[in-house]
Amino acid sequence: MPPTVTTNDNWTEEQPVMPVKEDIDATADAEAAFSLALSQDQKDIREWVHGFAADVVRPAAREWDEREKTPWPIIQEAAKIGLYSWESLGQFHMDPTGLSVPIVFEELFWGDGGIGMAIIGTTLAVASIFGQGTGEQIGEWIPRCYGTADDVKVAAFCSSEPNAGSDVSAIRSTAKFDEATNEWVINGQKAWATNGGIADVHVVVASVDRELGTRGHAAFVVPMSEAKGISEGSKVAKHGLRASHTADVFFDDCRIPAEYVLGGKEKLDERLAKARERANEIAAGTKRFSSSNPSMATFEASRPAVGAQALGIARAAYEYALEYAKEREQFKRKIIQNQSVAFTLARMKMEIDAARLLVWRASWMGRNAVPFEAAEGSMSKLKAGEVAVWVTERAIQILGGNGYAREFPVERWHRDAKLYDIFEGTAEIQQLVIARAISGMRIE
Ligand SMILES: Cc1cc2nc3c(=O)[nH]c(=O)nc-3n(C[C@H](O)[C@H](O)[C@H](O)COP(=O)(O)OP(=O)(O)OC[C@H]3O[C@@H](n4cnc5c(N)ncnc54)[C@H](O)[C@@H]3O)c2cc1C
Repeated sequence: MPPTVTTNDNWTEEQPVMPVKEDIDATADAEAAFSLALSQDQKDIREWVHGFAADVVRPAAREWDEREKTPWPIIQEAAKIGLYSWESLGQFHMDPTGLSVPIVFEELFWGDGGIGMAIIGTTLAVASIFGQGTGEQIGEWIPRCYGTADDVKVAAFCSSEPNAGSDVSAIRSTAKFDEATNEWVINGQKAWATNGGIADVHVVVASVDRELGTRGHAAFVVPMSEAKGISEGSKVAKHGLRASHTADVFFDDCRIPAEYVLGGKEKLDERLAKARERANEIAAGTKRFSSSNPSMATFEASRPAVGAQALGIARAAYEYALEYAKEREQFKRKIIQNQSVAFTLARMKMEIDAARLLVWRASWMGRNAVPFEAAEGSMSKLKAGEVAVWVTERAIQILGGNGYAREFPVERWHRDAKLYDIFEGTAEIQQLVIARAISGMRIE
């Protein structure tokens, strides 16, 4: 089982006591204290996940990358120790500082990106169920996403389509309600779904009313074992993160019960009625168009966790390159004794630490419902992704020919890192979100 996370609001009391200077008012309000020191609980969790990443994940990484298959035995190992479970995810999320999730993700992805994604890919669907589902749906579906330690399952989140990537308003999949049978009928093609087709639970975003754009979208739970008309399309052969399964998913008159819409049908009907009213007001000129989307806050809150994955990959490459540069000799000296190599390593370390600060800030903001006024969630993901790509590329350079060889892990880390410029909002889309947030203006 994972070490427990302190859930009381006085977590700062657990921090090492700062020496009090005479001229500082020692009675200052403890709430005002600022500290980046981790609590003992957070350190324990980090050590625990690091142990699993070092002993189980890292040694298996090359094999599963080459096989390009889901590493079920490793997911099972993670389930057995309690790392792959809804209970542990819930526990990490309860940390009032918001830091446990990025700490766990960074360590796991330090072990390996592909296996890391195979283990945490399920959380994309879980986050959607948790964010949009009713209490009853959360209780029923989230445990099903994981299965049990003896019979592990994974879940998939299917939003992207062949013609709807960055532009989610272009989603063409439809969900029509059949009054006669009290069922939803889903049709369409989803693309790029992590765990698509191999998941027990698929969360699918489909359009219920196309005229309402993204406000006419709803999310549905489609259990593979029960629903007919859902099938796996072609699996994507990828550049990196190859231990993680990515595939198209087809929905062909796929029927699911009325209650499988997240949030419930009654709430959806209310939401659609409001959106139609609003659309009519805009058409009549009594209300102004606003591009703000209520789901943006959810995306902003989940982005730092994605940034933390990139950080783990970057740190793995930096640490490896540092050790290599201290060992490798050319011209009768260690290569790190050349300033160009040493300075590169210094900058690698600095960029990783800077990115981590952005990730931690955004994680803390998300956990404590601090408004993302400058799109701080996007900032953290953008920076961590760019740092991961740059650091892993520099690590290849520091290893020279060995950096380019499959026998060494650095080229794999570089391939894995590139995804972080692309998925969960490309680097360009993150900049768009930040630019709109800081300017308050419509920027195309
Ligand atoms: C390995 C992997 C796993 C994935 N997992 C999932 C998943 O589980 N579920 C899911 O739903 N999706 C998933 N995706 C899809 C992912 O979210 C999309 O690939 C991503 O949103 C980008 O969409 P796209 O690939 O269609 O690129 P496009 O949107 O076609 O973008 C192409 C290029 O145009 C740029 N561009 C587009 N619009 C603008 C603009 N307005 N301004 C400036 N530049 C712009 C982009 O930044 C990019 O550089 C995954 C993708 C990959 C590669």
